[in-house]
Amino acid sequence: MKTMGLQRLMLVAPQRFPDPEATARASGASDLLDAATVCSSLDEALQGTVFAIALSARARDLGPEPAQARQAALDLLARAETGEVALVFGNETSGLSNAELQRCHAAVTIPANLDYSSLNLGAAVQILAYELRMAAFDAAPPRPQLATPSLSDPATHEEIEGFYGHLERLMIRTGFHDPARPKRLLPKLRRLFGRAQLEKDEVNILRGIVAAAEMAAEGRTPGQAGGTRGAADKSNN
Ligand code: SAH
Repeated sequence: MKTMGLQRLMLVAPQRFPDPEATARASGASDLLDAATVCSSLDEALQGTVFAIALSARARDLGPEPAQARQAALDLLARAETGEVALVFGNETSGLSNAELQRCHAAVTIPANLDYSSLNLGAAVQILAYELRMAAFDAAPPRPQLATPSLSDPATHEEIEGFYGHLERLMIRTGFHDPARPKRLLPKLRRLFGRAQLEKDEVNILRGIVAAAEMAAEGRTPGQAGGTRGAADKSNN
Protein backbone atom coordinates (compact mmCIF):
# COMPACT_ATOMS: atom_id res chain seq x y z
CA MET A 1 0.00 0.00 0.00
CA LYS A 2 2.71 2.46 0.95
CA THR A 3 4.76 1.88 -2.22
CA MET A 4 1.70 2.87 -4.27
CA GLY A 5 0.85 5.86 -2.10
CA LEU A 6 -2.14 4.39 -0.24
CA GLN A 7 -2.49 4.98 3.49
CA ARG A 8 -5.71 3.97 5.18
CA LEU A 9 -5.76 0.36 6.27
CA MET A 10 -8.80 -1.07 8.08
CA LEU A 11 -8.50 -4.54 9.58
CA VAL A 12 -11.69 -6.47 10.22
CA ALA A 13 -11.52 -8.75 13.28
CA PRO A 14 -7.82 -9.66 12.91
CA GLN A 15 -6.66 -12.78 14.75
CA ARG A 16 -3.71 -10.92 16.25
CA PHE A 17 -3.03 -7.20 16.11
CA PRO A 18 -0.66 -5.55 16.71
CA ASP A 19 1.70 -8.42 16.08
CA PRO A 20 5.52 -8.50 15.90
CA GLU A 21 5.40 -10.59 12.70
CA ALA A 22 3.23 -7.99 10.97
CA THR A 23 5.56 -5.20 12.10
CA ALA A 24 8.60 -7.10 10.86
CA ARG A 25 7.00 -7.76 7.48
CA ALA A 26 5.94 -4.13 7.10
CA SER A 27 9.62 -3.14 7.08
CA GLY A 28 9.73 0.62 6.63
CA ALA A 29 5.97 0.93 6.41
CA SER A 30 5.13 0.35 10.06
CA ASP A 31 3.70 3.89 10.21
CA LEU A 32 0.88 2.64 8.02
CA LEU A 33 0.39 -0.39 10.23
CA ASP A 34 0.49 1.72 13.41
CA ALA A 35 -2.23 3.95 11.99
CA ALA A 36 -4.44 1.00 10.95
CA THR A 37 -7.96 0.94 12.36
CA VAL A 38 -9.25 -2.30 13.84
CA CYS A 39 -12.96 -2.95 13.29
CA SER A 40 -15.12 -5.80 14.53
CA SER A 41 -17.16 -6.19 11.34
CA LEU A 42 -17.10 -5.26 7.66
CA ASP A 43 -20.12 -3.02 8.23
CA GLU A 44 -18.14 -1.06 10.79
CA ALA A 45 -15.16 -0.79 8.41
CA LEU A 46 -17.37 0.48 5.59
CA GLN A 47 -19.18 3.06 7.74
CA GLY A 48 -19.23 6.41 5.95
CA THR A 49 -18.05 5.06 2.61
CA VAL A 50 -20.03 5.86 -0.54
CA PHE A 51 -18.56 3.13 -2.76
CA ALA A 52 -16.85 -0.20 -2.04
CA ILE A 53 -15.35 -2.72 -4.44
CA ALA A 54 -14.88 -6.36 -3.38
CA LEU A 55 -11.94 -8.40 -4.66
CA SER A 56 -12.69 -12.02 -5.38
CA ALA A 57 -11.00 -14.69 -7.48
CA ARG A 58 -14.28 -16.53 -7.84
CA ALA A 59 -17.37 -15.33 -9.72
CA ARG A 60 -20.44 -15.65 -7.44
CA ASP A 61 -23.97 -16.37 -8.49
CA LEU A 62 -25.53 -13.66 -6.40
CA GLY A 63 -22.76 -11.10 -6.31
CA PRO A 64 -22.38 -8.15 -8.67
CA GLU A 65 -20.87 -8.84 -12.12
CA PRO A 66 -17.07 -8.62 -11.68
CA ALA A 67 -15.29 -5.73 -13.43
CA GLN A 68 -11.72 -5.54 -14.78
CA ALA A 69 -9.12 -4.22 -12.33
CA ARG A 70 -8.21 -1.27 -14.59
CA GLN A 71 -11.81 -0.18 -15.03
CA ALA A 72 -12.54 -0.71 -11.33
CA ALA A 73 -9.66 1.61 -10.40
CA LEU A 74 -11.09 4.34 -12.65
CA ASP A 75 -14.56 3.86 -11.17
CA LEU A 76 -13.24 3.95 -7.61
CA LEU A 77 -11.32 7.13 -8.31
CA ALA A 78 -14.35 8.79 -9.88
CA ARG A 79 -16.47 7.87 -6.85
CA ALA A 80 -13.76 9.19 -4.53
CA GLU A 81 -14.76 12.68 -5.74
CA THR A 82 -18.06 12.24 -3.92
CA GLY A 83 -16.90 10.64 -0.67
CA GLU A 84 -14.87 7.88 0.93
CA VAL A 85 -14.31 4.72 -1.11
CA ALA A 86 -12.91 1.30 -0.24
CA LEU A 87 -11.30 -1.79 -1.71
CA VAL A 88 -12.33 -4.91 0.22
CA PHE A 89 -10.09 -7.99 0.32
CA GLY A 90 -10.63 -11.37 1.93
CA ASN A 91 -8.15 -13.19 4.13
CA GLU A 92 -5.74 -15.86 2.87
CA THR A 93 -7.69 -18.81 4.19
CA SER A 94 -11.31 -18.23 3.35
CA GLY A 95 -11.45 -15.10 1.18
CA LEU A 96 -14.67 -13.05 1.24
CA SER A 97 -17.99 -14.62 2.16
CA ASN A 98 -21.04 -14.11 -0.05
CA ALA A 99 -22.55 -11.90 2.63
CA GLU A 100 -19.44 -9.71 2.66
CA LEU A 101 -19.40 -9.52 -1.13
CA GLN A 102 -23.03 -8.43 -1.20
CA ARG A 103 -22.24 -5.50 1.07
CA CYS A 104 -20.09 -3.99 -1.69
CA HIS A 105 -21.27 -2.06 -4.76
CA ALA A 106 -19.05 -3.84 -7.27
CA ALA A 107 -16.74 -6.83 -7.56
CA VAL A 108 -13.38 -7.18 -9.27
CA THR A 109 -11.71 -10.35 -10.44
CA ILE A 110 -8.07 -10.21 -11.46
CA PRO A 111 -8.13 -12.29 -14.67
CA ALA A 112 -5.50 -14.85 -13.67
CA ASN A 113 -4.92 -18.40 -14.96
CA LEU A 114 -8.39 -19.98 -14.92
CA ASP A 115 -6.95 -23.18 -13.42
CA TYR A 116 -5.01 -21.36 -10.69
CA SER A 117 -6.54 -17.96 -10.14
CA SER A 118 -6.15 -17.23 -6.43
CA LEU A 119 -3.34 -14.76 -5.76
CA ASN A 120 -1.74 -14.16 -2.39
CA LEU A 121 -3.53 -11.35 -0.61
CA GLY A 122 -0.48 -9.08 -0.84
CA ALA A 123 -0.17 -9.67 -4.59
CA ALA A 124 -3.88 -8.94 -5.16
CA VAL A 125 -3.59 -5.73 -3.10
CA GLN A 126 -0.53 -4.66 -5.09
CA ILE A 127 -2.23 -5.09 -8.46
CA LEU A 128 -5.20 -2.95 -7.45
CA ALA A 129 -3.00 -0.39 -5.68
CA TYR A 130 -0.89 -0.09 -8.84
CA GLU A 131 -3.94 0.31 -11.07
CA LEU A 132 -5.23 3.00 -8.72
CA ARG A 133 -1.92 4.83 -8.92
CA MET A 134 -1.93 4.65 -12.70
CA ALA A 135 -5.51 5.90 -12.78
CA ALA A 136 -4.80 8.69 -10.28
CA PHE A 137 -1.84 9.98 -12.31
CA ASP A 138 -3.42 9.52 -15.76
CA ALA A 139 -1.04 6.62 -16.50
CA ALA A 140 2.03 8.82 -15.87
CA PRO A 141 2.98 8.71 -12.15
CA PRO A 142 6.02 10.79 -11.10
CA ARG A 143 9.24 8.92 -11.80
CA PRO A 144 12.65 9.10 -10.13
CA GLN A 145 15.30 11.30 -11.75
CA LEU A 146 17.81 9.37 -13.83
CA ALA A 147 21.00 8.68 -11.87
CA THR A 148 23.05 10.05 -14.79
CA PRO A 149 20.96 12.66 -16.47
CA SER A 150 21.67 13.45 -20.09
CA LEU A 151 25.12 15.10 -20.10
CA SER A 152 24.50 17.45 -22.97
CA ASP A 153 21.62 19.52 -24.34
CA PRO A 154 19.80 18.28 -27.40
CA ALA A 155 21.44 19.30 -30.67
CA THR A 156 19.71 22.09 -32.59
CA HIS A 157 18.37 21.89 -36.12
CA GLU A 158 21.36 23.76 -37.59
CA GLU A 159 23.90 21.63 -35.72
CA ILE A 160 22.33 18.47 -37.08
CA GLU A 161 22.05 19.91 -40.61
CA GLY A 162 25.73 20.95 -40.35
CA PHE A 163 26.60 17.35 -39.53
CA TYR A 164 24.54 15.93 -42.42
CA GLY A 165 26.25 18.35 -44.85
CA HIS A 166 29.66 17.41 -43.50
CA LEU A 167 28.92 13.69 -43.72
CA GLU A 168 27.58 14.04 -47.25
CA ARG A 169 30.76 15.84 -48.41
CA LEU A 170 32.88 13.08 -46.87
CA MET A 171 30.85 10.34 -48.52
CA ILE A 172 31.18 12.07 -51.93
CA ARG A 173 34.92 12.69 -51.47
CA THR A 174 35.59 9.09 -50.53
CA GLY A 175 33.45 7.78 -53.40
CA PHE A 176 30.93 6.13 -51.08
CA HIS A 177 28.11 8.32 -52.36
CA ASP A 178 27.52 9.35 -55.97
CA PRO A 179 25.31 12.49 -56.08
CA ALA A 180 24.45 11.66 -59.70
CA ARG A 181 22.87 8.39 -58.52
CA PRO A 182 21.67 9.25 -55.01
CA LYS A 183 19.51 6.13 -54.39
CA ARG A 184 17.96 6.56 -50.92
CA LEU A 185 21.17 6.86 -48.93
CA LEU A 186 20.69 10.35 -47.51
CA PRO A 187 17.05 9.95 -46.41
CA LYS A 188 17.98 6.63 -44.80
CA LEU A 189 20.83 8.20 -42.87
CA ARG A 190 18.53 11.02 -41.76
CA ARG A 191 16.06 8.45 -40.49
CA LEU A 192 18.81 6.58 -38.64
CA PHE A 193 20.20 9.67 -36.88
CA GLY A 194 16.69 11.05 -36.36
CA ARG A 195 15.84 8.02 -34.20
CA ALA A 196 18.89 8.70 -32.03
CA GLN A 197 17.72 12.19 -30.90
CA LEU A 198 21.29 13.47 -31.04
CA GLU A 199 22.75 15.63 -28.27
CA LYS A 200 25.26 18.46 -28.84
CA ASP A 201 28.20 16.38 -27.61
CA GLU A 202 27.22 13.52 -29.86
CA VAL A 203 27.05 15.76 -32.93
CA ASN A 204 30.52 17.10 -32.04
CA ILE A 205 31.90 13.56 -31.79
CA LEU A 206 30.35 12.59 -35.14
CA ARG A 207 31.72 15.72 -36.80
CA GLY A 208 35.14 15.02 -35.28
CA ILE A 209 35.10 11.54 -36.80
CA VAL A 210 34.01 12.89 -40.19
CA ALA A 211 36.77 15.54 -40.06
CA ALA A 212 39.40 12.94 -39.16
CA ALA A 213 38.23 10.71 -42.01
CA GLU A 214 38.41 13.70 -44.42
CA MET A 215 41.99 14.35 -43.37
CA ALA A 216 42.94 10.71 -43.70
CA ALA A 217 41.41 10.69 -47.20
CA GLU A 218 43.65 13.64 -48.07
CA GLY A 219 46.71 11.93 -46.60
CA ARG A 220 47.00 14.35 -43.69
CA THR A 221 47.00 13.70 -39.92
CA PRO A 222 44.99 15.74 -37.39
CA GLY A 223 48.13 17.53 -36.11
CA GLN A 224 49.07 18.94 -39.53
CA ALA A 225 48.51 22.62 -40.36
CA GLY A 226 45.54 23.29 -42.56
CA GLY A 227 43.71 20.30 -41.14
CA THR A 228 39.95 20.57 -40.91
CA ARG A 229 38.82 20.87 -37.32
CA GLY A 230 35.43 19.27 -37.48
CA ALA A 231 32.62 20.92 -35.62
CA ALA A 232 34.77 23.80 -34.41
CA ASP A 233 35.38 24.88 -38.00
CA LYS A 234 32.40 27.06 -38.92
CA SER A 235 33.52 27.37 -42.56
CA ASN A 236 32.81 23.69 -42.79
CA ASN A 237 29.10 23.99 -42.13
N1 SAH B 1 -8.66 -19.30 -0.31
C1 SAH B 1 -9.19 -18.03 -0.60
C2 SAH B 1 -8.12 -17.20 -1.24
C3 SAH B 1 -8.02 -15.89 -0.72
S1 SAH B 1 -6.75 -14.96 -1.43
C4 SAH B 1 -10.40 -18.10 -1.49
O1 SAH B 1 -10.56 -19.12 -2.14
O2 SAH B 1 -11.16 -17.15 -1.62
C5 SAH B 1 -6.94 -13.50 -0.51
C6 SAH B 1 -7.73 -12.40 -1.18
O3 SAH B 1 -7.00 -11.88 -2.28
C7 SAH B 1 -9.05 -12.80 -1.76
O4 SAH B 1 -10.06 -12.86 -0.80
C8 SAH B 1 -9.31 -11.65 -2.74
O5 SAH B 1 -9.77 -10.51 -2.06
C9 SAH B 1 -7.90 -11.41 -3.26
N2 SAH B 1 -7.66 -12.15 -4.50
C10 SAH B 1 -6.83 -13.21 -4.68
N3 SAH B 1 -6.83 -13.60 -5.97
C11 SAH B 1 -7.68 -12.78 -6.62
C12 SAH B 1 -8.09 -12.65 -8.00
N4 SAH B 1 -7.67 -13.47 -8.96
N5 SAH B 1 -8.97 -11.65 -8.30
C13 SAH B 1 -9.41 -10.81 -7.35
N6 SAH B 1 -9.04 -10.88 -6.06
C14 SAH B 1 -8.19 -11.84 -5.70
